[in-house]
Amino acid sequence: MAKIRELPPEVQTRIAAGEVIERPASVLKELIENSIDAGASEIDIVLEKAGKNLIRISDNGSGMDENDLLVAYLPHTTSKLSSLDDLEGIRTLGFRGEALASIASVSHLRIESRSEGEEIGTYIEVEGRQLLKKGKLQHKKGTTVEVKRLFYNIPVRRRFLKSDSTELAWILDIINQFSLAYPEIAFILYHEKKELLRLEKTKNLAERIERVLKIKINNFIFIEHYNPIFKLKAWFSRPEISYPDRKAQFFYVNRRAVRSSMLYHLVSSAYREILPPNRHLQLIFMLEIEPKLVDVNIHPTKREVKFRREKEIYDILLNVLKENLTAPKVIRETGKSFYQEEIKEREIPLQENQLSLSQLKYQEEKASFLYYKDTFIIFIRDDKINIIDQHSAHEHILFEKLMANINGQLPEKEKLLLPEIIDLNPAQAIRVRQNILLLNKCGIEMEEFGENSFILRAKPTWLKQDIKKFLQDVILELEEDNFKELEEQKKKLCASLACHAAVKKGDRLSIAEAEKLIQDITKTKIPYCPHGRPAIITIDLKKIEKEFLR
Ligand code: ADP
Ligand code: MG
Repeated sequence: MAKIRELPPEVQTRIAAGEVIERPASVLKELIENSIDAGASEIDIVLEKAGKNLIRISDNGSGMDENDLLVAYLPHTTSKLSSLDDLEGIRTLGFRGEALASIASVSHLRIESRSEGEEIGTYIEVEGRQLLKKGKLQHKKGTTVEVKRLFYNIPVRRRFLKSDSTELAWILDIINQFSLAYPEIAFILYHEKKELLRLEKTKNLAERIERVLKIKINNFIFIEHYNPIFKLKAWFSRPEISYPDRKAQFFYVNRRAVRSSMLYHLVSSAYREILPPNRHLQLIFMLEIEPKLVDVNIHPTKREVKFRREKEIYDILLNVLKENLTAPKVIRETGKSFYQEEIKEREIPLQENQLSLSQLKYQEEKASFLYYKDTFIIFIRDDKINIIDQHSAHEHILFEKLMANINGQLPEKEKLLLPEIIDLNPAQAIRVRQNILLLNKCGIEMEEFGENSFILRAKPTWLKQDIKKFLQDVILELEEDNFKELEEQKKKLCASLACHAAVKKGDRLSIAEAEKLIQDITKTKIPYCPHGRPAIITIDLKKIEKEFLR
């Protein structure tokens, strides 16, 4: 084996950079953090080629004077902490003094800055640890950081970057993430000289959330809680809006976007009783807590956090959330039809296992099946008792239909009487553009209509809900393109469309609809919904006889 040597300093920094700087979005994340830490109230971002060729960010924060600027780009230089003690109670977004050094080691870095007390600003140009140029220039108070030709010296990294639109979508996700936590900061983004985003500053957090996520905050359940160790502000969607993953969930601890298995577990437990398994509410969760009680120094990009006194915090939070999410004041808005209301009024309280009025009605009309809890359809065929879960079954049937459409079978669709226009945020618009061919194949006829808007002209005939609302839900789950895994992308899109279009547990089906479902599901090959839940359970007569010891 070769002799052990210490690596040259440039190599050390470049290896360290690998942990923090993965792609343009991670550069931008670090730079936005610096601007926020410097107290900026306006952050302007200019990109070329999705940040691969240029990222320029200007802020109106505190700025740096010449002395500070001349050390800022060196490894382990920071103004944010000075001792081990400080590490125990971090109040800033940055603290390791690594970001600028890492960025300098993998790009051409130029920084211009002027601090409050100075008449004239300073600029430096750096490559690795080498100062290439420095000088004086006019600059407003604040800092401009320019990162050019990212990974020019690590060709493998550069080759591994995704398409411009995918990288851009990641960048927009990062900006969205910060903008939700910092409504008092204006964010402006230009890409290839086009303005992609302009968020004015506002004092009102709810207003910023509505703007960024394109939601109506009044449809959300607002939860606020204060106690001596933490403050919580959170918005949860109602159970009617849920997703198969956590993409629509935003968690913040002390205004830092975080991942935390503790918080994931917490919210899932809080809505376990009101959602089917593996579904997640949309939510914005903002926790302010004494900095000494969180450790943000456990992950290279500072995204993961750990709590001290975790159990105590967890228990309080769980109580607060459950109280708010499952309390009777939360009215389910399922848009029940008049017919269902009628039945409800005449309904006599029932024991769990008695037949409900709707079931009796089905029996009177000699339906060939039993309908239980507006969810399960039970029928006997070939000496087998079959139980269908209406949601899983419908989802599965739609999924197969959609996959066939994508693979060439023409969709059954109908023109909308009035075309609908949907406005999206830029990140969502990119994802729609990347999936638009597939969507069209599925019978969702739409095209671009201005900057971040699309016009919808036709919908698939099987879609019963409002197409606009339906699409908005689906769009939140769209994946970025990934050419190598196109098959995977197709499947995910179809699964998402099928899940949102399928009848839900508790939606009452007509006799004809239920019979159609029986017919269709018994024809499909593998009766599982795309999420892997069975769509039909079968109990053999032989098994029943055996149970009765016959
Ligand atoms: P960290 O943020 O962990 O301190 P960085 O490498 O990101 O490390 O930045 C090093 C230092 O440069 C910061 O501590 C700060 O003093 C200064 N700095 C960086 N960006 C800015 C900015 N936009 N405005 C003012 N000061 C900045
Ligand atoms: Mg920093």
